[in-house]
Amino acid sequence: MADEEKFSGADLLIDALQENGIKNIYGLIGIPVTDFARLAEIKGMKYYGFRREDAAVDAAAAAGFINGKPGVALTVSAPGFLNGLAALAQATKNCFPFIMISGSSDRHIIDLDRGDYEGLDQYNRAKPFCKAAYRVDRAQDMGLAVARAIRTAVSGRPGGVYLDLPAATISDMSTKADAKIYKVVDPAPKQEPADEAIDRAVDLLKNAKHPVIVLGKGAAYARSEEEVKELVDTTKIPFLPMSMAKGLLPDNHPSSAASARSLSLGGADVVLLIGARLNWLLSNGESPLFSQDAKFIQIDIDATEFDSNREIQAPLQGDIKSVLQKLNKAVKAAGITAPQDWLDEIATKVNSNNEKFAAKIKASHTSSTFGYFGAITPINELMQKHPDTYIVSEGANTLDNGRNLIGMQLPRHRLDTGTWGVMGIGLGYAIAAAVETGKPVIALEGDSAFGFDAMEMETICRYNLPITVVVVNNGGIYNGADQVVADQLSPTTLDANAHYEYLSKAFGGDSYFVTNYNEMKDALEKAYESGRPNIINAQIAKTMGKESGHIGNLNPTLNLDKDANL
Ligand code: ADP
Ligand code: MG
Repeated sequence: MADEEKFSGADLLIDALQENGIKNIYGLIGIPVTDFARLAEIKGMKYYGFRREDAAVDAAAAAGFINGKPGVALTVSAPGFLNGLAALAQATKNCFPFIMISGSSDRHIIDLDRGDYEGLDQYNRAKPFCKAAYRVDRAQDMGLAVARAIRTAVSGRPGGVYLDLPAATISDMSTKADAKIYKVVDPAPKQEPADEAIDRAVDLLKNAKHPVIVLGKGAAYARSEEEVKELVDTTKIPFLPMSMAKGLLPDNHPSSAASARSLSLGGADVVLLIGARLNWLLSNGESPLFSQDAKFIQIDIDATEFDSNREIQAPLQGDIKSVLQKLNKAVKAAGITAPQDWLDEIATKVNSNNEKFAAKIKASHTSSTFGYFGAITPINELMQKHPDTYIVSEGANTLDNGRNLIGMQLPRHRLDTGTWGVMGIGLGYAIAAAVETGKPVIALEGDSAFGFDAMEMETICRYNLPITVVVVNNGGIYNGADQVVADQLSPTTLDANAHYEYLSKAFGGDSYFVTNYNEMKDALEKAYESGRPNIINAQIAKTMGKESGHIGNLNPTLNLDKDANL
């Protein structure tokens, strides 16, 4: 009888992923998952093969952020698993939903520590670095395992799930009837706060003289752009986007206070946080970034986030979309609008800062020294013409300058170093953005950041993806002008004359080398029009770039006077 027919664990795993609408796997194969990947292709999934596991896991995580449902990564056992683990940890910190599946050794070898080829107790090693880890020991549990992994990844605060797949389970057999494969019902249920929680928030907003909204990547992930727009348009409360919330409302929206960050945050008496944590990226909620007297309203799906850094006077637990729908009604009923004198004060500051910024941009176009502004403003100009292009960015100064210079108009079109400020995410994120959306992608990379996963250029070229990798080369980490000891390379020094663009040529992509604004603009337009994989190597001056970029305050400095330390 047909339903007596038995299928392998691998077969059933692929069925369960497909049943739940998962189409792509990002991975790096080897023992014991090679045939699993082949079978996934045969059964109609798309498998994207990477050169290092962390980039594959980054790609799966980015797919999760972009789509709002888990991306899937695949690695081999022990070393492959460990290479993926850093990405599993950092993307979980970012609250990106995804599933990292690693092949592993069979239990009876691992549990008696008998020694296996690439043998490691991966399941227990993964646990502290992800939202949850599961091991599936029987083919017949595959439907349940995938359902559990999906629901854990996307419900509540999203995150990475580790699914341990022992070799024996891959080839174990079960009938489809026993494996019970199904589509998860309502994987991320809506949640609304109680009426009194809404009242508390409305009271604070009603009495606020200097209200401000901070938008975080949680708001972008929650697809709350309509609700956020309604809130801002009805109340006129100035807003500031965190870097990955840029584009949730267009950066040129009249209520954007991004150009008056210190004034608006420092002067705020009521701060409404929407999907943004008060972590180090917001000075842990401390003064002087925020006033000690400011009161906070925070919308988050995870109630343990409230009071993590300072008192939250009006916590609103729930998914951002539902919370804002309810809040918007109450705010309208209460007739809340931001006081005009506060808006005028911010507008004055925004205008004067914008003028200064525009003058700096203009000067950079004709400057004899090629620097960050000259290299990056052409990307902004292109983005205003083609706002559906995706931007991925990493580096120190390259990241900081790009965040300020590149105006975003659409939500979830910017991915960057995220909550940990991690380097080496760029090409993995770029690959996922191109694969999942079919849109062109610009990966804006510092020369150091690019190096972490530069070999993924081969992946980009192999799949012929429309990705432009811009390497802003100042010859070093932070910059290339440092010299500590005579006749020795400094710890921050990289090759200022490196022709990174040749890497693209090596794999059949296009290459551009630019040393001024006009060349950069020209190269970028050509690269965009071609739709082909390419690298633009923008060689800027070695002296450009501050130590640690905008976060130099986090960098302990020592007395480096050589004689004093002898
Ligand atoms: P940013 O770095 O942009 O400030 P964070 O990553 O610090 O953003 O904060 C994102 C927050 O959004 C997390 O605390 C997370 O729990 C929350 N979050 C994620 N998805 C949702 C959702 N659908 N509804 C409500 N909160 C969410
Ligand atoms: Mg550099």
